[in-house]
Amino acid sequence: MSKNILIIPGDGIGQEVTTWGKNVLEAVADKHGHSFQFDEGIMGHVAIEETGSPLPEETLEKAKESDAILFGAIGHAKYDNDPHAKVRPEQGLLKIRKELGLYANLRPILLFDELLEASSLKPEILKGTDILFFRELTGDVYFGEKNKAEDGSFASDLMNYHRYEVERIAHKAFEAARHRSKKLCSVDKANVLETSRLWRDVVQEIAKQYPDVEVEHMFIDNAAMQLVKNPRKFDVVLTANLFGDILTDEASQIAGSMGMLASASVGDGTGFYEPIHGSAHDIAGQDKANPLASILSAALLLDIGLGLVEEAEEVRDAVAHTLKEGWRTIDIANNATPEEKKIGTKQMGEFVLEQLKK
Ligand code: NAD
Repeated sequence: MSKNILIIPGDGIGQEVTTWGKNVLEAVADKHGHSFQFDEGIMGHVAIEETGSPLPEETLEKAKESDAILFGAIGHAKYDNDPHAKVRPEQGLLKIRKELGLYANLRPILLFDELLEASSLKPEILKGTDILFFRELTGDVYFGEKNKAEDGSFASDLMNYHRYEVERIAHKAFEAARHRSKKLCSVDKANVLETSRLWRDVVQEIAKQYPDVEVEHMFIDNAAMQLVKNPRKFDVVLTANLFGDILTDEASQIAGSMGMLASASVGDGTGFYEPIHGSAHDIAGQDKANPLASILSAALLLDIGLGLVEEAEEVRDAVAHTLKEGWRTIDIANNATPEEKKIGTKQMGEFVLEQLKK
């Protein structure tokens, strides 16, 4: 297979971890005889410094021409402390998502047995958890009309959804459920919200096209509780933008660390693969960042983006073996086992590569 892959490392630890995501893709190509052509683009603070824009036209053009994009993170302390800055790193991320028409954010909550002790939840509750979230990305209160009274006494954000927005992400979630355990949980607040009643109506309609998938509808408040009470009960979870934002952060605790979670943002064209974490200024440049979220994002790029399912599984197996041998970056180290050995970004990346090449 021959593909063009764009690498956008971004800022802070994005630069450090994306190197390893890319190295893993190179190793997979070598091992399986694929030809991946890599190009690089700038985005975020580095791009503002160099060009004045958080998403230079050149990066956007490269993104549109590529088959898949591996992204690191954007952000800089300078902007976090200045809410009035007009040009900001995150504008680059929002713009590229919009330009590429990315409407579904897929976030697998994949728990490695070796990290059961790294979570704040009890191991016996967590063991065996494997959830795939589908969060809608283009609608909801984020993009509805916003109002604020001049005297500050009132504000509103309009929550809205179009039928087609629900339909297209529902199809993606049902397709995924078909290839997993054939169970889908749609999360809404249909007892209170019109948008949720539309959501439920569309999901019920689309479910008829997937009779092999068992569908459950759950209210968001119940889902938030069930997720920590019995996470194994979930498989594919389909939900709207706001509910997905909150639920997926809650679920990230299940995997033990932000440094372990990958995500894919997809639409009908080029997909965008990235760790869920940010640029982590507190540890940037110190060889402390966990590169596994970037490596697992590369795995998502392989199976979701390029259809290379076997290759993606090899990457996940290489991560599992590395963890089994006791190697831990500081965010997942908890002295739970005597074999545990603390290492930095570079060594973790090298050990995964070594496993992959075996
Ligand atoms: P963050 O995810 O960068 O960091 C949160 C905490 O998790 C920090 O203590 C950090 O050290 C730790 N952490 C994160 N990734 C890690 C990894 N791979 N290995 C080990 N530890 C890790 O979130 P934040 O501190 O709220 O934000 C920092 C900057 O990142 C801000 O400028 C923010 O705007 C930006 N941000 C960007 C994205 C993105 O690019 N998608 C997402 C979130 C935040």
